[in-house]
Amino acid sequence: MNQMNEEFQQKFQQLLQLKDIYNTREVLPLRMQRLKLFDINFQLKQIRHQQQKRLDQIINSSIKSQPSQQIETSQDTVTKQFSSQIIVDQQNICLSCDKYIFEKRVELFCQNKFHHSYHSTCLATIMKNQLKLECIYFYCLCKSQIKIGQIFKQRAVDLEVYVNKLMENQLNYMKKSLPNIKLCANKDCDFFWVCKNSGKIRSQSYKTSQSPLKIYRISYVNYCPTCRFQ
Ligand SMILES: [Zn+2]
Ligand SMILES: [Zn+2]
Ligand SMILES: [Zn+2]
Repeated sequence: MNQMNEEFQQKFQQLLQLKDIYNTREVLPLRMQRLKLFDINFQLKQIRHQQQKRLDQIINSSIKSQPSQQIETSQDTVTKQFSSQIIVDQQNICLSCDKYIFEKRVELFCQNKFHHSYHSTCLATIMKNQLKLECIYFYCLCKSQIKIGQIFKQRAVDLEVYVNKLMENQLNYMKKSLPNIKLCANKDCDFFWVCKNSGKIRSQSYKTSQSPLKIYRISYVNYCPTCRFQ
């Protein structure tokens, strides 16, 4: 890992020197020089991002393995070492493909106050793959659960189709595994409701279900308000 760091550092220094040259002298046609400068800035950002990512990993593993006091100190040093500029840069690099995000950025607010950004197409691919596993939650690559409200708030319209599918999965999961969910007795109707103390109500109804009127009532409550009066 140290070796990698050195390599990064060397490249970083070279880039900084080049940037300095291009900033102060005219060595190329103006347009070319501007493009070069743009490219250098981009590469500098990427290197900073890689370093930040590695730090994230180190912090994540230390959080898992260390008591809480030590976590605070390691986070403090990180804050001191890295300026807010790097955080801004990091927010423009996609966590999935590592490339700069020029447009359609989706930002996720993850555990331990990390912000993770994605191209909306990259996040769509991640969601698609998770949907294949019949998931009921989406997860960021950092393993944080994605709060769906974030997607809606950022108006990431490309992702809405996957969010809708996720909500369908959640609904099916609830219908299957929660005893208090009641489905409308009309097979063609999707209506469902949550029944409080369903056990109690049922035992009461059975006790008093002698008269035809009572039987009528029991079957009647198995329908949703719309189907009931059809
Ligand atoms: Zn991407
Ligand atoms: Zn994340
Ligand atoms: Zn119904």
